[in-house]
Amino acid sequence: MKLETIAIHAGNQLDETTKAVIQPITLSTTFERGEDGNYPGGFIYTRSANPNRTSLENVLAQLEGGADATAFSSGSAAAAAVFQSLAPGSHIIAPDDMYHGLRNLINQVYRGILEITYINLSDIVLLKSAIRSNTKLIWIETPSNPLLKISDIQAIASISKENNITVCCDNTFATPVFQNPLRLGADLVMHSSTKYLGGHSDVMGGALITREKNLLWERVRQIQGLAGAVPAPFDCYLTVRGIKTLPYRMRGHAENARKLANFLNSHPKVENVFYPGLATHSGYETAKKQMKDFGGMLSFLVKGDAKKALKIANATQFFTQATSLGGVESLIEHRASVEGPDTKTPQNLLRISVGLENIEDLILDIDQALSL
Ligand SMILES: *Cc1c(COP(=O)(O)O)cnc(C)c1O
Repeated sequence: MKLETIAIHAGNQLDETTKAVIQPITLSTTFERGEDGNYPGGFIYTRSANPNRTSLENVLAQLEGGADATAFSSGSAAAAAVFQSLAPGSHIIAPDDMYHGLRNLINQVYRGILEITYINLSDIVLLKSAIRSNTKLIWIETPSNPLLKISDIQAIASISKENNITVCCDNTFATPVFQNPLRLGADLVMHSSTKYLGGHSDVMGGALITREKNLLWERVRQIQGLAGAVPAPFDCYLTVRGIKTLPYRMRGHAENARKLANFLNSHPKVENVFYPGLATHSGYETAKKQMKDFGGMLSFLVKGDAKKALKIANATQFFTQATSLGGVESLIEHRASVEGPDTKTPQNLLRISVGLENIEDLILDIDQALSL
């Protein structure tokens, strides 16, 4: 099956009793046992597994070309399962530009349990020198949040293989439509399905997908079932529903983002634009090599300070000033004030999740806001 077909069919189990075309939502938390004490329907208790979650995991595994997938109640819960699977005292390497919630999770929850080094993962020489004897995990986020930095997944995976280190790639920004880290040698892929996979800003979720079913994966499955940070059946249904249109939505997001990036890039009130599809972007060549297209996220520096940036964000009509990303509607956000006082994000940076509105409306709107 090709991507568009997987997106529509792989997460939809036909109901044999009613013949419903769309899989019903199974809200039952428990399932009847047979006379012999077994479970003839294959399900026991919804924390361990549920038909809607199984369907979601099925479509996720196939979209990423993986051997298996686990769904979680949020992207952060999915990431936490990876950190929890490591033995205390393990060392992890993570990118210096990274989703701030995961950086806070590592720094605040795993403080004293895991050792952490943040480096510029675009620099392979630096990566080699950061590896220690107890390094167990390299965390990749490409394109990264909020600077859209690009790391070479294949190069990092080959170094990690020489050193027996697991590589997990946060593929939230690229989505499986534009980038498949498992095919480039990564061991695990992580998603916040709250973003593009759900696609409509109305359901939280996260996922891990594995290249092979190994000991680490058994551990991840165990953490999912025993720690229980699992999505509700209705949330699984909504995410599966969103995924059906993912390939088409992503093409629209990328097309709009490319046009908006080009417009901003030549705007006199803009200092710099970060979009990996611009030939002037430092990660352009690597992005072109490992991505089918460059995605719907961009950020830019306005000429001025935080106050000026906030004023622009407030003056837009079609870009809602809100955090998060990946919905059909455009969002604009002043990242530094969301990330807090210890942020390294420039004060004049605005991040845009480019939605699926008509691009001419979006360009006119951002132009009038910049001109105020
Ligand atoms: C949102 C996000 C996360 C965290 O996911 P939640 O679903 O909010 O827990 C992780 N990584 C990236 C890149 C994100 O955008």
